[in-house]
Amino acid sequence: MKCPNCSSKDIGKIGVNQYYCWNCFIEMSLNNGVIYTHQVEEDGSLSSLDDLFDESERRFSV
Ligand SMILES: [Zn+2]
Repeated sequence: MKCPNCSSKDIGKIGVNQYYCWNCFIEMSLNNGVIYTHQVEEDGSLSSLDDLFDESERRFSV
C-alpha cells in the first residue's frame, strides 16, 4: 500500500482500516477496496481530499 497523494510507502496503521501517511500527514481509510483520504485541519476536523484523486488512483490493490 502506498499513499495516493505522495506515493510514499511510509504508511502507519492507526486503526481498523485506517492509515496515516507520515510523509504528507494525511489520513486514509479503506472501504470496499477504495482508499478515502482526509486531511486533519488545525482545529482537529477532517476535510476530504477525495476530490483530488480519481477513483482509479484510490483503488486499493495488494
Ligand atoms: Zn502521503
